[in-house]
Amino acid sequence: MPEQHSTKPVAVITGASSGIGAATARALAAHGYQLALLARRVDRLEELTDQLGGPAIAIAADVTDRDALVAAADQVEQQLGSADVLVNNAGVMLLGPFGSTQREEARRMVEVNLLGAMTATEVFLDQLRDGDGDLVNISSVAGRTARAGNAVYAATKWGTNGWSEALRQELQPDIRVTVIEPGAVATELTDHITDPAAKQGAEQLYTQLAITADDVAEVIAFAVTRPWRMTLNEILLRPTAQTG
Ligand code: NDP
Repeated sequence: MPEQHSTKPVAVITGASSGIGAATARALAAHGYQLALLARRVDRLEELTDQLGGPAIAIAADVTDRDALVAAADQVEQQLGSADVLVNNAGVMLLGPFGSTQREEARRMVEVNLLGAMTATEVFLDQLRDGDGDLVNISSVAGRTARAGNAVYAATKWGTNGWSEALRQELQPDIRVTVIEPGAVATELTDHITDPAAKQGAEQLYTQLAITADDVAEVIAFAVTRPWRMTLNEILLRPTAQTG
């Protein structure tokens, strides 16, 4: 007997264990979505699914592990039905001067932010094609303005923008493609920076002006709940006091 699925749309969010991903889960739950929450820290995801109350599943998946993403896609299909929305949100921002000491962190940013999003998209593509799907890629202001100290992070976000623009042309009208480019948002993102000067600089900036993850989540929810005839392809949003 095939499992009976709810008629509520299904949203898959990578990196849903904190920050923008967790806030997006709350925002989409409020709009009646069923949720599949992916990240490595599954305990945090389970806490969130308990809080959401509605239909939501927590799936331990590292976006650099294709097998884990394939298993996640199967689980989503079985338990909730085909994904209607994929939010490629998982990311790391390991700022610091470019050079050999940062080579492992540079590689990790490319593998998580860029290749991870590509793999998740490739794996969920057939499900998104199944109905009117939404692909939401979380880029950054750093996908439009690069500066000393964020070379590789900016490269991943510029890459996200270029990839998304090509996908827009390739996938629409079957799948809507939206790129979100936030400025400073108060999350755990800066906690993982290991270069002391870069960490101090980022924390100082964020303390002064960061907006909240809920601010960004509301924008994501707004974009995916527009009438199907229209797509918000690119949304750049900053704290009002952020000029760069
Ligand atoms: P957080 O650090 O709060 O969240 C990052 C999320 O990514 C976590 O849930 C983490 O989960 C997940 N993640 C990290 N590595 C992996 C991995 N290998 N596999 C799966 N999940 C992973 O930061 P934000 O919420 O701020 O970041 C979310 C996105 O927003 C990122 O793409 C970031 O670049 C982007 N962004 C953030 C801005 C900001 O100022 N905060 C501004 C512009 C863009 P876990 O560790 O449990 O796996």
